[in-house]
Amino acid sequence: MYDIQEYLTATTVEEATALLAAHPDLTIIAGGTDVLIKMHHGQGAKARLLSIRGIQSLQGVRLLADGTISIGPLTTFSRLATDPVIQEHIPILAEAALSLGGPQIRNVATIGGNICNGATSADSAATLFALNARLKLESSQGERVIPIQDFYLGPGRVDLQAGELLTALSIAPEDYRGYSGRYIKFSQRRAMDIATLGVAVLCRLEAGGLLADVRIGLGVAGPAPLRCPPAEEYARGQKITPETFAAIGRLAVSSTRARTSWRASREYREHLVGELTRRALADAIARAGGPGSI
Ligand SMILES: Cc1cc2nc3c(=O)[nH]c(=O)nc-3n(C[C@H](O)[C@H](O)[C@H](O)COP(=O)(O)OP(=O)(O)OC[C@H]3O[C@@H](n4cnc5c(N)ncnc54)[C@H](O)[C@@H]3O)c2cc1C
Repeated sequence: MYDIQEYLTATTVEEATALLAAHPDLTIIAGGTDVLIKMHHGQGAKARLLSIRGIQSLQGVRLLADGTISIGPLTTFSRLATDPVIQEHIPILAEAALSLGGPQIRNVATIGGNICNGATSADSAATLFALNARLKLESSQGERVIPIQDFYLGPGRVDLQAGELLTALSIAPEDYRGYSGRYIKFSQRRAMDIATLGVAVLCRLEAGGLLADVRIGLGVAGPAPLRCPPAEEYARGQKITPETFAAIGRLAVSSTRARTSWRASREYREHLVGELTRRALADAIARAGGPGSI
């Protein structure tokens, strides 16, 4: 049984933000695959829920005239995985979407819920970090847009202020055009398992077979998803050689703050970061038309 005291619904953003302003204790529910599990485990007793599932404007993916890709937070992982704009322009996000849960979960779980729950293991987060995604947050007081890196404050904590709703995730054209990518989820099972580690690598090649740009997003390598600035800076302008791969893997580990849990020790996770970053980069280079083998 779920201890739900009240269940409100909104069909527009204005209606939702007005309800959140009037009732600060409301918990937003989208797909409910986190909210209801928590309630089932005894958290959020006597919950007052605000369902945003009926807000049509928060659904789906749009390619805007300036090339920005705008993703509605209510877009489910099933839809993301098959969306033509995602498949054509940022297939790495479709790859990440397909790694989440199983078909039933992907049919209801939303990308907004995946980010707003603040989990370092969120399967879309590492890729959204690598894509420099920006988040639009709206309340009855107005709106703000922030980089996803600033949204994560710590384990399970995000910068979602009282009365705010995530209303869009956007990716600028300069952050995806010319890039190839690869997301690798390492988990104990191939489906229905939370990541022991998630690695998203994007790369752009330049003439002469050099690495023009590399971006590395990691999940479960710290209390929140993270990027690897020293490895990314080192990679720029490097030749594609085994030594370059080894150095990028090593430097990626230096950015992590992994911890030991029942899933894996810190040392094992660090090993995975070095190895999987190398492998994801090799695959991303191959997808960009470069030499993939190392
Ligand atoms: C069996 C099972 C398997 C799973 N496997 C995986 C997996 O492999 N990988 C993975 O990453 N996750 C997994 N999950 C977790 C979960 O499915 C995802 O995190 C999912 O994306 C959450 O989306 P939701 O729409 O269900 O969120 P909800 O449960 O509705 O909400 C999650 C949180 O986000 C808030 N929220 C939702 N939307 C908004 C919004 N627009 N604005 C502000 N706040 C909002 C809610 O208040 C809540 O705090 C699994 C869950 C289950 C039950």
